[in-house]
Amino acid sequence: MGELELIEQIRSANRDAMGSGRSVGARRGRGGVVLGIGDDCAILRAAKGHEVLVTTDFTLEGRHFRRDWHPAESVGHRALARGLSDLAAMGARPVAAFLSLALPREMVATRSGQMWADRFFAGLQALADEHKVPLAGGDTAKSPCGLVLADIVLVGSAKAGRALRRSGGKVGDLLYVTGTLGGAAAELAAMEGRAGGGRPRPSRMPGEGRAGEHPQLLPQPRVQVGLALVRRGLATAAIDLSDGLSTDLAHLCRESGVGAEIDAGALPIHPLAQQAGSRRALELALNGGEDYELLFSAPAGVRMPRKVAGVTVTRIGRLVTGKAISIDDVVQGPRRLEPAGWEHFARRSRGTDAIRDGREVESADA
Ligand SMILES: [Mg+2]
Repeated sequence: MGELELIEQIRSANRDAMGSGRSVGARRGRGGVVLGIGDDCAILRAAKGHEVLVTTDFTLEGRHFRRDWHPAESVGHRALARGLSDLAAMGARPVAAFLSLALPREMVATRSGQMWADRFFAGLQALADEHKVPLAGGDTAKSPCGLVLADIVLVGSAKAGRALRRSGGKVGDLLYVTGTLGGAAAELAAMEGRAGGGRPRPSRMPGEGRAGEHPQLLPQPRVQVGLALVRRGLATAAIDLSDGLSTDLAHLCRESGVGAEIDAGALPIHPLAQQAGSRRALELALNGGEDYELLFSAPAGVRMPRKVAGVTVTRIGRLVTGKAISIDDVVQGPRRLEPAGWEHFARRSRGTDAIRDGREVESADA
């Protein structure tokens, strides 16, 4: 697949949204994509009184997904979900997405490789349609290392000065999370178990199911929740849970200059994680990562609705003076909560070809 082919593919997939490639949602005063695919650059227009937010995320084979475990649609979905989740964490509205994709030579040359790319796009496009975010540009290359490498750039907008930050938390604020925790890591562990069973898992997309049924394969970025938190003035600080609660909470506390106390009994744990037994379930909820839920703080005086934008919100603790983060439950009592979030495949993929050949690429979430 050449660059032109990719561009054609994206352009045709976005035809409804993009029209002739011009003026996507860029109505007077609203901002959006003025010029999409087809020129040397895309042209975006910021809405009056708004700021532009930009986030970029690697999706690297062997690091963020495995081609033998994750169906191609899931890889495309997850690539976009990571960027959308960063915008959600700051309460920004998605404006445009840009994709750079490198495929190994042997994939470009084969029918099955081309089908993988088609399915990758289908997964990415379905989530883009759901959130009405146009793909406004892209680039392709042959990967020099036999691995699929993708990079997604998401551009969003928020009213000037209103975007949520990690640094806004105050002592006494209460801590909340959306949805449930630990599901993504629990589903991944199940995938690992099946892969270890020796029977190759059919490489297809799970059937249509209830939202949240595939927290690893199809995480749901909380874009509408982030927008509602800003609109209703409910939150003082926020972050998305990409690396795991223990690690991402530490980021929020450091930026806010506060400590935190977590009530382990209050954590909303995904049913898939609960199946692992209570001790392992807690470990998955705290350190599992990739749940892409939002963690946010709000003043104790704010009456928090049980649901925001249709998503359940659960109080899990509060911000306190000092730097320490602690967790308490009836079984183990109060103790330090060390950041031990999951570093994607860093520990799991030892021995895979990617690692053996020294081709592993380090990445860090900004
Ligand atoms: Mg993030």
